Amino acid sequence: MYKDHGDVIHSVGAMEGNPPEEGTKVEAEIDGVRRNKLRRMHTAQHVVSKVVLDEFGAETAGNRIHTDRSRIDFEPVEFDGDDLRKIETKANDVIQKDLGVTKENRPREIVEREVEEGRALLDLIPDHVDPLRVVEIDGFDTCPCGGTHVDSLGEVGGIEITDRESKGKDTDRITFVLNDG
Ligand SMILES: [Zn+2]
Repeated sequence: MYKDHGDVIHSVGAMEGNPPEEGTKVEAEIDGVRRNKLRRMHTAQHVVSKVVLDEFGAETAGNRIHTDRSRIDFEPVEFDGDDLRKIETKANDVIQKDLGVTKENRPREIVEREVEEGRALLDLIPDHVDPLRVVEIDGFDTCPCGGTHVDSLGEVGGIEITDRESKGKDTDRITFVLNDG
């Protein structure tokens, strides 16, 4: 699912038979298990990104969320093994606090003021996108994001960092899983 100029577009992956005629009403169902994993992963990504910004001053240059494992690219930074354990511990401490997660549309002007420097690539969001959907982890982090997230951090459970690789000078990629796989 994605949005195109305000229209919600659902793309059909593996469909059997011929596609229905244009204008046909169809019934769709969300895969609840998959959706729940993605909500937890997406929210965990916000936590890890914020922990890394706080501890290392590195920005999230990109991320890729999957149901089984997710990855985030950070720059400028070069992590060692101790750094990874520190990030994991700090992220899990925050998750344990079970902070509330709210999502709402806010005027872009306000978002530009309240989002911490280095926390969001606001320059990459076209100017006409206003309001912006903001995901706020109570008292911890505010970031514009269109993804799907949990309502309370405890739902994430916990994370484990499984891999770190260098993606060139000053850019490191971290891979993490949810504690229950
Ligand atoms: Zn998000």
